[in-house]
Amino acid sequence: MPEQKILLYPHPILKKPARTVERIDEEINSLVTDLIDTMRAGPGSVGVAAPQVGVSLRLCVVDVSASRHGKENNHGLMVMINPEIIASLGAASMREGCMSVPDYTGDVERATEITVRFTNGAGEPEEVVASGFEAVAIQHEMDHLDGILFLDRIVSLKTGLFRRKSYK
Ligand code: ZN
Repeated sequence: MPEQKILLYPHPILKKPARTVERIDEEINSLVTDLIDTMRAGPGSVGVAAPQVGVSLRLCVVDVSASRHGKENNHGLMVMINPEIIASLGAASMREGCMSVPDYTGDVERATEITVRFTNGAGEPEEVVASGFEAVAIQHEMDHLDGILFLDRIVSLKTGLFRRKSYK
């Protein structure tokens, strides 16, 4: 299946904690393909989580390698099934956007380095240490699995939220 429609805030699925993926079957494989296609089709998009396409499962894809912020420091395309952050370090604030919140960007504070454990698209356990922009992207996508949007993490709605002029 091709790219999927992205649900927009305040769709209730975006606020709901997603369920664990119990086994990787055909359905999951085709969802992974859809998520990758959807991410690639989104302008400047570096990740998509299953709840954003209406599937409340703990699965997301991240790829910051084409982004100017992430191209020097990344693990390429990552398919993350049931991801878990097992260690995190540091804190920094960065401007974030989201395909589900197309009209705004916002300053969010996140860990600067994370160790994340997940099952990859081949069904194998994987552990990745990510830093910088890639770490931010992973934390953003994993938040979607818990029903959290970047809007929920903005430190100050008065000074930390910005109306977007164009999405690119
Ligand atoms: Zn998002």
